[in-house]
Parts: sequence; structure tokens; C-alpha cells
Amino acid sequence: MNLCDIDVIRAVLGRHGFRFSKSLGQNFLTDASVPQRIAAYSGADRVGNVVEIGPGMGCLTAELCRRANKVIAVELDRALLPVLAETLAGFDNCEVVQGDVLALDLAALCREKFGVQGAVACANLPYYITTPAITALLESRAFETITVMVQREVAQRICAQPGTAAYGAFSIYVQYWAQPEILFDVPANCFVPQPKVDSAVLQLTPLAQPAVAVRDEKLFFALVRAAFNMRRKTLVNALVPLLGGRLDKAGIAALLESVGLDARVRGERLSLQEFAALADKVAELPEEV
Ligand code: SAM
Repeated sequence: MNLCDIDVIRAVLGRHGFRFSKSLGQNFLTDASVPQRIAAYSGADRVGNVVEIGPGMGCLTAELCRRANKVIAVELDRALLPVLAETLAGFDNCEVVQGDVLALDLAALCREKFGVQGAVACANLPYYITTPAITALLESRAFETITVMVQREVAQRICAQPGTAAYGAFSIYVQYWAQPEILFDVPANCFVPQPKVDSAVLQLTPLAQPAVAVRDEKLFFALVRAAFNMRRKTLVNALVPLLGGRLDKAGIAALLESVGLDARVRGERLSLQEFAALADKVAELPEEV
């Protein structure tokens, strides 16, 4: 059964009385080459264990099952469970878990299902939870690689370099934990219903150690968020809400200069290394009184 064939999709979903939910980000793939390519890149054959988020009708799940020892597919929509029971009936290495990826303990799920063996994550992610889902996948520290389809602009933002319009706090967050790479683009006409935006398949390879060493991780990310909250302002002005209780603007400017930054710089120009150096200087400041 070609689960990307539009006639098959209509027939199977029609039999189960299924209706697409926009609010659950349900856009199913209609080009069979896309799930094949995603599965081929996912590492399922090499690592053996896969967690898939949002199997939908199961087109990507089936490709993963062909390559992996075991696939755990987490689907929120209960209406898809009987559909998946039908479309995945031919695979004995797949288990569908009904649940919300954002509410699950992914590390515990991997321990329960795979023991101490490694696993990869793979998904055509629903757009409405892209950022929290990627955050949960990274923070679980449970996956050797994370291969996900997301809106193309989001993939570009995640991979963006300093000084570009796409560079932001989420670029830095992801690049702190992982090496991101865009694998290929997927146009909007490869889905039913057709979304308004194009997509891209992104692979994140979690790093053994964060990309930069910082004394205080919370402070590092607080600094990054402050810099991008007011990205059109100079970094000195953007840091006033965070540091104003301890330093005046001249003091913040001196702090920037002490790590080799121009006092007129905007935060969007700083690399991870520069944010890390600055965060370590801030960590040396006396506590606010
Ligand atoms: N994998 C299928 C494909 O590529 O055709 C469907 C992908 S569709 C973009 C996203 C899927 O994620 C849907 O099946 C949707 O019901 C499911 N989903 C939405 N929110 C979810 C959540 N919080 N946790 C798990 N699955 C979710």
C-alpha cells in the first residue's frame, strides 16, 4: 500500500471517518520519495531504535520500520490509532504510543523501550509545536541524531550565522547543544492538505559537550534572550534590563570592551563564543544588592 498515494489516503481515512485537524498540524505527505529520503538519512538502519513523533497515517513510520529494529511512534490524535493499526499491520517492529510529545518524558520512554541501546528521533513535525518539540528532543539527551521536517524558515533560523536576519536566540540555543544541517527542501505541494509554507528536512547531531563552555548556563541564555529581545538596539541598551541594577550604560560598555567587543555592537552580530565570553564576565560581577 502506497501511503502517500492521494487515492489511498482518501480511501483509508474515509473508511475510518477521519477528518484533518488544522490545530494539530495535520499535513500528510503525498510524495513517497520524501519519507524514503528522511528515513534513509535518519540513521534508523545504523542505530536500530527510533522514536517517531506524529506518525499521522504512517507513511514515514513504514519507511522507518523497513530500516530499524524497533520504532516507537508517538501520536496525539486518538482518531489516528485505528488508521495506524490498519496501515502498519504488516510490521511487527512498531509500537504506537498515544500521547503528547511535549508531556512525555522522552528519556524515560527510550529507557523503557530500548534499555541502554542508542536511539534516533525522526518526525514530520506539526508546525505549531516545532520549537518546543525540538527543545524537548534536545533536552532529553536520548538521541544520537534528530531528523525532523519543519517549516523552511525555521530550519534556516536554526542554522543561521551571526549578523544575518535569521540569526536569533533559538539559533544559539540549538547550536549550543547540537550541530544543525539542512538536508533538503520539501515544497508545499508535497502535502495534503497543502500548507501555506515550504518545508525543509533538518538534522541535528547533539554534541558530546555544549559548543561553548560557560560558567553559568542560565546566565548565558538569559544574556542571549536579552540581546535578541531588543535586537534593533545596541547590545549596551539591550542589556540594561538585565544588568541595569548593577551597571550603568558606561559600565556595560566597559564590560563589552573588556571581552574585545565594540561598545556600539548589536547582539545579533555576536557568535556563541562571544556571548560565552561576555556571560563569563557577567558571572564575575558582584551580586545585585
Ligand atoms: N508523519 C505523517 C506524515 O509525514 O505524513 C504526519 C505528519 S503531520 C505534519 C503531524 C502529526 O503529528 C499528525 O499526525 C498530528 O496528529 C501529530 N501531532 C500533533 N501534535 C502532536 C503532539 N503534541 N504529540 C504527538 N503528535 C502530535
